Amino acid sequence: MNIPQKVKQTLEKMKLNKKEKIVVALSGGKDSAVTCYLLKKFGYNIEGFHIDLSMGEYSDKCLKAVQDLCKQLGIKLHLYDIKQEMGSGMCYLRTAIQSEKSLKNCAICGVIKKWIMNREARKLKASKIATGHNLDDEVQTFLVNIFKGSPELSSNIGPISRNVSDKKFIPRLKPLFYVPEDEVRKYSKKEKLPVIYDKCPCAIDSYRIQVRKFVDTLSDAKKDHIMKNFEIVFKKLQKKKDTTINYCEICGEPARKDICKMCQLMKLK
Ligand code: SF4
Ligand SMILES: [Zn+2]
Repeated sequence: MNIPQKVKQTLEKMKLNKKEKIVVALSGGKDSAVTCYLLKKFGYNIEGFHIDLSMGEYSDKCLKAVQDLCKQLGIKLHLYDIKQEMGSGMCYLRTAIQSEKSLKNCAICGVIKKWIMNREARKLKASKIATGHNLDDEVQTFLVNIFKGSPELSSNIGPISRNVSDKKFIPRLKPLFYVPEDEVRKYSKKEKLPVIYDKCPCAIDSYRIQVRKFVDTLSDAKKDHIMKNFEIVFKKLQKKKDTTINYCEICGEPARKDICKMCQLMKLK
C-alpha cells in the first residue's frame, strides 16, 4: 500500500466528520507537511498552526517553509510567536529551566509546545489536532517507555487519542501512525513539498535519540511488528491506566496532577 492509501485507511477508521475543524501542528519538517498535504487532499477541513520557537536561522527557515506550504495548499495559517507571547525564545526559556532542573532539551520543548497547542487549538474551536508523528516516532516512544520502566505511559499511543474525553482537551490525530519515516521523506520529495530537512539544532543528547539510532537499524517490517506487539500489550495497559483529567490549579489547563507539567517547569508557584 502506498502512503496516500495507508493514510486514507487510517483516517477512515477514525470516522471523522469532514466538516469538523482540524488544526495541523506544522513544524516546517517533512512529517507535518505530508500530514497536512494528505488531509487536504482527502477533503478534511484543516487549518495550519505553527509555533515560532525563535531559535535563530533554523526557526526562520521553518517559518518560511510553513508559510509556503499553507499558501500552496490554500489553507489558513495561525502563527504563535513564542518570543512575543511568552517573552523569550525557546533557547532562553530552556536555559533558565535547566539552571534549576536537570531536563533534556526536547523534554522541555515538548511540554511547552503541547501546552501551547492544546490551548490555542481550543481557542480556534478545533475539534482535533493533527500531528506528523510517523511509525518510527511511535516505535521510539513505545520502546523509551518500556526502557524507562513506565510502559503504562504508552497507553495513549495510537492514531487517535484514546481514553481521554474532556471538554478542555483537544484529541490528537496521527495520520502517519503506520507510515515509516523513510517513506514519508521520499513522498515529501516526490510531491516537492516546501520542507526543511535539517535537523533541529537543539535536538541533542536525549535518551530518545539513542533509541532512535537503534530503531534506525530495524527494517520497516520489524517496526511494524513492534507496533503489532504493542497492540497486544496495549489491551493489558488499558486496565491499569488512570484516565482522570484534572485542571491545573495555576493555568486551568488539563493536567494529570494538581499542577500541569508546564506550570511545574515554569515554576509559577
Ligand atoms: S527537536 Fe527537540 S528541541 Fe527541537 S523543536 Fe523538536 S522538541 Fe524542540
Ligand atoms: Zn498549568
